Order: sequence, then structure tokens, then C-alpha cells
Amino acid sequence: MISKLENRRVLVTGGCGFIGSHLIPFLLAKGSIVTVIDDLSTGPESNLPHHENLTLIKASVLDTGIIRAFARDSDLIFHMASLVGMKLVAKKPQYSYDVSKIGTENILELSGKVPTVLFSSSAVYGLTKKAYAVESKSISAKEALEYDGNKLGYASGKWAMEQAGIRAMEAGKPVMIIRPFNIVGHGQVTTYGMVVPNFVDSAMKGLPLTIYDSGHQTRSFSCVEVFCAVMEKLITQPAAWQRPNNIINIGSDQMTSINELAHLTIESLESKSTINYVPYDSVFPCKKDVLHRRPDLSRLETLVGAVEWPSIRSIVEALEKHKAVLS
Ligand code: UDP
Repeated sequence: MISKLENRRVLVTGGCGFIGSHLIPFLLAKGSIVTVIDDLSTGPESNLPHHENLTLIKASVLDTGIIRAFARDSDLIFHMASLVGMKLVAKKPQYSYDVSKIGTENILELSGKVPTVLFSSSAVYGLTKKAYAVESKSISAKEALEYDGNKLGYASGKWAMEQAGIRAMEAGKPVMIIRPFNIVGHGQVTTYGMVVPNFVDSAMKGLPLTIYDSGHQTRSFSCVEVFCAVMEKLITQPAAWQRPNNIINIGSDQMTSINELAHLTIESLESKSTINYVPYDSVFPCKKDVLHRRPDLSRLETLVGAVEWPSIRSIVEALEKHKAVLS
């Protein structure tokens, strides 16, 4: 659908967030002409570089006038705009749902046939206890709702995003739906509660690391730089835009328990921090934590070949070096 990024006009919604702070420089380095639409609610303008081929439009994806003005005028759209982090999402569940659902409908309706990548989430798999999450398994609204504590929120919004994407595909629009798995790296802030930046920050300050519940829950932490490189391979691979291959898990399949993460963070950073355990529902009332979340990567690897994802230990060590340089 798009053979290269060079000289292509790429629209990125939500480009001022953590992933955007890596993806935008990546696109610019590839020669793309980039427009970012972001309301700056969770990502600052300073996350973007100054570049002659980059324009920032400060607006929400709920603003149809803005979307109408820019969406058709691009060769490719990355639709990333979304509320981030369990803490923020728990405070504004309905808004989180609306931004995903209505924002996606706006983008899809107002962008004509422009190929569009929708940033869904591994959260659509719900509270699955199965070791591998497979794209071919059909996902119900009920599973997403359970994840949201039976109140429309983040996962339901991503589910609604996917449904809108599937309807648009059926109507002939090129759409790719990606499901990222715990993307981490430098620039991810502590504010929204994500575990890796919080553990690294606490360990560097010698403060206790707080683990929710037993710490036996696992995640597949995935390096943001590798994520960007995989995105380029996917969008330039025609088969990745064909149904049903165009709903794709992206991430590492190395599982790490939150206990292991806490210990390796303390060890790698040679920190004196201790570990605190608190019940999950004391932080997120009425919600349950996902026990295991690990992607089946067969589809991704069939499309782009094997991907080498760095270990979480090397990611944490790189974060420490990066923070040491910044401080
Ligand atoms: N977690 C934790 N302490 C924290 C933040 C998160 O124990 O300070 C746990 C959380 O319960 C979850 C895992 O770490 O099991 C990953 O949390 P995160 O918010 O980073 O991502 P998500 O829950 O969306 O996978």
C-alpha cells in the first residue's frame, strides 16, 4: 500500500506521546514529511524534534474540522491518539472510551482511502489467563468490558476502534490494526503508572518499588526502537494490509514477572531500594489485573521475518544510562 517512507506525507495522531517521541524522529530520518495532530494532553510539544519536514497541529482527534482538513492530504496515517496509562484511564474511563471510539471513527470517515494504521492494544484480549494471545481468536466486547471493571473504558474503546477498523476494511479501505504489547524505552514518564519507568525511577532514587498483588503476573516488555523498525517493515509489506493478516500483535514474547522485573531493576542499578507489596484493588478499586499477557508472534514473523527483541535487563540498563546522562 505504501512502498517506502521517503517523501511520503505521513499524518500521526497522538504523536507527542512516548511512542511518538521515537516514531516521529524515525519517520523524519527516513525522509517522510510528517504532520502530527496532538492535543498535548499527555505528551508535551518538547517530545518532538525541530525539523523542517515536521508540522504540529495542536488539536484533538475529536475535532472533525481539523481531521477533515488534514486526513485526506496524506499518504499514510498512524492513528495513535489515546489516553495512556492505567492511572489516567482509571480517572477518566468514559473519556478514554470516547477518544478511542469517536476519534477512530473520525479518522476513518474523513481520510477517504488513505492507508491507515490503527494503534489498538493487547488490552483487547481482556483478562486472559492463557499464555499466548493469538489474533485469530475472536474477541468479544464482554472481555474488554471485564478488563475495564464492567464500565466502558480503555479496553472497550480499543475494541470499538477495532470494530470501526474492520467495518472500514470491509468497505474497501486499507486498514492495519496493530496490538502493541507493553512497549517500553526512554522517554516513558512515571506519571501514568507504567511499571518500568516507575521501577527505574524509584530504584535510582533509592525509594521502595511497589508491586501490586503477588508480583507473579507477567508481561512481555518490548523495546520501542525495535517497535518502530517493525512498523516500517509492516507498512511496506503488502500482505500486512490484507485480511485477515492485517490484525497484528507486535512485541516480544519473552515473559517477565513483575517480581523478576523489580529484582533485576534493583540489581542492574545497584540500588538499595526495597520492595513493597500492595493489593491491586487498593490502587485500582473494582478492577482486576491481567495475569499474563504474551503475544503469539506467528503472524508478525510470517510478515516481516524473525524479530530480535532485546531482553528486559538490557532495556533497563539502557534506561539507567540514558537517565544518568539526562540528570
Ligand atoms: N505494576 C506494579 N507496580 C507498579 C506499576 C505496575 O506492580 O508500580 C504491575 C501491574 O499491576 C501490572 C504490570 O505491573 O501487572 C504492568 O503494569 P503497566 O501499568 O506497566 O502495564 P499494563 O498493566 O497495561 O500491562
